[in-house]
Amino acid sequence: MIELTRAKNAREAHHRFILNLISTGILSTVLKNRSRIKTKSEKKTANLPDIPTDNSSIWLHKTRRAQHSGEGADVPCGSCTACCTSSYFIHIQPDGQETLASIPKKLLFRAPGLPQGNVLMGYDKNGHCPMFKDNKCSIYKTRPQTCRDYDCRVFPATGLSVGADKPLIDQQALRWKFDLSTPLAQKELAAVHATAQFIREHADCFPNEFIPTNATQQAVLAIKVYTVFLDLPDASDNNDTDKLNRTLADAMLETYTKFKCQDVA
Ligand code: SF4
Repeated sequence: MIELTRAKNAREAHHRFILNLISTGILSTVLKNRSRIKTKSEKKTANLPDIPTDNSSIWLHKTRRAQHSGEGADVPCGSCTACCTSSYFIHIQPDGQETLASIPKKLLFRAPGLPQGNVLMGYDKNGHCPMFKDNKCSIYKTRPQTCRDYDCRVFPATGLSVGADKPLIDQQALRWKFDLSTPLAQKELAAVHATAQFIREHADCFPNEFIPTNATQQAVLAIKVYTVFLDLPDASDNNDTDKLNRTLADAMLETYTKFKCQDVA
């Protein structure tokens, strides 16, 4: 009986908190931007077929485990080579010895703001990676970890757009269609969207430079800390929007630290 009362209280607290988010405009912004992205998607991918992909919940947990372990993503890219031809600087860490040995030194330069040994590889005048040859990666077996980790499904998963300067990736990302047939898949994806939107709009609630400036890294961060929006704290008495935002930001910072240190489900 006590357990039932606790569960009821928790549900009511959660419900009050959602109402609070609605009244502060956070959820309406999320929904408004989601519909904006959908319109853009319909426009850009009008002549291209959708690509059905995993149940979003299964994908999300697989992606989180890969982010945690560094094992790399398993992406059914097919013939798509958008990420190799979209003007990306590719980061290579000092421990990527095999990768470093496969790339001519003249193509690498020190990564600004990172410790010695971290390097970047640029792109040619067409925005192509210099190791992209004959329409494929010429160092596929020893390609950088950055390339192994890249999964453009992070964009539909978070509702973020990679940006107008990378139209091929934007177009490909918008074609993915997650299987949302289970309530958990819907709930988790809604939480990831809400987290990404919060990160985007409330960078000032976090320590300096904690929120990355590029959309890919923002999406990756949202996937790491989305659980905050799944299990919201009780803020029923909190009518102070700034305080509410700071509470959410603190919970995300704590979740981020735990993500780095603990096993990830
Ligand atoms: S190293 Fe290979 S996989 Fe990575 S961007 Fe270049 S061509 Fe693509």
